Amino acid sequence: MKEYRIIDFHTHPFTATSNNICHHIEHCDMSIENTKRDLRGMGVETICGSVIGRLYGDKPYTFDDVRAVNDEALRLREAYGDFYYPGFHVHPKFVKESIAEIERFHALGFRLIGELVPYLQDWSDYSDSAFFEILEAAEAHKMVVSFHSMGEDEMDEMVKRFKNLTLVAAHPGEKSAFLRHLKRMETSENYYLDTSGTGVFRHGVLRRGIDEFGAERFIYGSDYPVCNPAGFIGAVALDFLLSEEEKEKIFYKNAQRLLKL
Ligand SMILES: [Zn+2]
Repeated sequence: MKEYRIIDFHTHPFTATSNNICHHIEHCDMSIENTKRDLRGMGVETICGSVIGRLYGDKPYTFDDVRAVNDEALRLREAYGDFYYPGFHVHPKFVKESIAEIERFHALGFRLIGELVPYLQDWSDYSDSAFFEILEAAEAHKMVVSFHSMGEDEMDEMVKRFKNLTLVAAHPGEKSAFLRHLKRMETSENYYLDTSGTGVFRHGVLRRGIDEFGAERFIYGSDYPVCNPAGFIGAVALDFLLSEEEKEKIFYKNAQRLLKL
């Protein structure tokens, strides 16, 4: 297989078993060091994304719990250097604190919010007015927002309201979900889709998306360590329906442009 320069736009690096979302940890020889060794071995130059912290409504929590995983991301950045571009969490139950978090990461030179994973953080609604306040601050700071796909109508509403904000949806999904993503690309020229999770194993998905909206809108992401990057690298590198130029955009150039790497 030809080697490509690769930025994995969608990962969840971990510092401990408690924030490692792999389903088969005990079989995978996982550590902070091995993440770098293993992904570099596949040609991945840089990984991006948030450390996952879990918050559930049956246990009290404050924004300190959200900030704690963001701090873990910054600790990992220290350990990894340029190999890791941190993404951070915001939370609609804590608008003021979330906006302060946007300002903190902005001052540090980072512009990636997410991946936001509401179902693991005790919130669910992308069309919540409190979340919109946070997105206004994100837009003002020219942030890139990576979010887990959920709630088709709510995602439509968010995209309609924030056409100037760079939004990167995760997971193409099955056909009907994928077609809704394409509809949102029509709504906003700042709407992108990463390759992670369900979707790109369907033949022709990337080809169709590129035919309709161009290769600029699709970004390589694996959702490591919950998903196996081999499947996603192969789905791009070995897709005989894509040109070399299209593969280079998906693997590297689009993320590089959005995050100004
Ligand atoms: Zn994810």
